[in-house]
Amino acid sequence: MRLAVFLFLAYTLCMATKKRTIAVLGATGSIGRSALDVIRRNSGCFEPILFSAHTDRRGLLVLGEEFRTAKLALSGQDALSDGRIHYTGEEGLYQAIASAGADIVINGIAGSAGLAPSFAAVDAGCSRLCLANKETIVMAGTILLEKAREKNCRVVPVDSEHSAVFQLLEAHGRDSLDRILLTASGGPFRRFSHEQLARVMPKDALTHPTWNMGAKITIDSATMANKGLEVIEAVRLFDVDTDKIEVVVHPQSVVHSMVSFKDGSVYAQMSNPDMRLPIQSALFYPEKAPITINNLDFSALTLTFESPDVEKFPLLPLAYQAARLEGLYSTAYNAANEEAVSLFLAGRIGFLDINVIVREVLQKDWSGGLTLEAIWNADRKARNVAATIATQLFTRGI
Ligand code: MG
Repeated sequence: MRLAVFLFLAYTLCMATKKRTIAVLGATGSIGRSALDVIRRNSGCFEPILFSAHTDRRGLLVLGEEFRTAKLALSGQDALSDGRIHYTGEEGLYQAIASAGADIVINGIAGSAGLAPSFAAVDAGCSRLCLANKETIVMAGTILLEKAREKNCRVVPVDSEHSAVFQLLEAHGRDSLDRILLTASGGPFRRFSHEQLARVMPKDALTHPTWNMGAKITIDSATMANKGLEVIEAVRLFDVDTDKIEVVVHPQSVVHSMVSFKDGSVYAQMSNPDMRLPIQSALFYPEKAPITINNLDFSALTLTFESPDVEKFPLLPLAYQAARLEGLYSTAYNAANEEAVSLFLAGRIGFLDINVIVREVLQKDWSGGLTLEAIWNADRKARNVAATIATQLFTRGI
């Protein structure tokens, strides 16, 4: 019965809108898989015409079998090896995005690799960019949003916190906005002592309490760099002062974020934690889609809130510092962190070294005008500085 109602609602909603073409970038990753689930449930609304993956060739081919008319792009492979993959390499991916000319592009690519594809999507004339790649906004938000405005492309966030804030501001306006309260799970180690944190190994960090995500974002959640990046993302995306953003630790991840207004009212967006909801909101915006996830059972809920421990998780205050300094500091923060996380995952540095590396990289001068070229130069330079610091830490440690 419930399924019948769902299908009827989905059918009614889709009949009211034209079937829209869609490109899913990072289609075999965590965001991509959730997006595909939403697309399958609403197959009358969306027609996938492009899927991209970085190295998961097999996963990409499986999608190609299911959606036979969609083109396939494998950005991590240099040469075409058979006729089933249509585009390869980074250039191939940009070409694929341009040729597809999809109405909607979902960017679920992880890390700074997602930046150029976001620009390619806006350049290709998509009417909506559903953005799960926070690095696009952290590194080049100002430039991308300006370009999107020029090209009449609506950028809708898919990050669950920003999706929540986006929806709350749509509903309540922002005239008397006082603060944005970003919720944070606090990561798996929020109760750990400094000594315990020093002993954390990659395998300990890769078990996240609530969300099932990729390795990079899972480590970022454990160090709270993820929330740091989200603070910068919120500042750029919603064009608010850094000091208007407050982080609230909420381990249950049921309240996805809140906004407070000058009269003291606070509005929250809540649901069971499930990435399909922000994806669905972005795909159907400004409509509300039929429900795909379970309703909250308030009788079974205990919600708690606390302040983040900024001494224990310094990547959070460092992100505030990067956001305030503007210029290329956000790019440097992101690049240093990406580099440090991959070194940690490779067993080259300890968990707490990630903090040391990002802090030291940010002490350099990252002022300068914001152009794409300057961003990529700063990204490269910050990675080199991070790698040098890591080598020093490693040498000191042996
Ligand atoms: Mg998030």
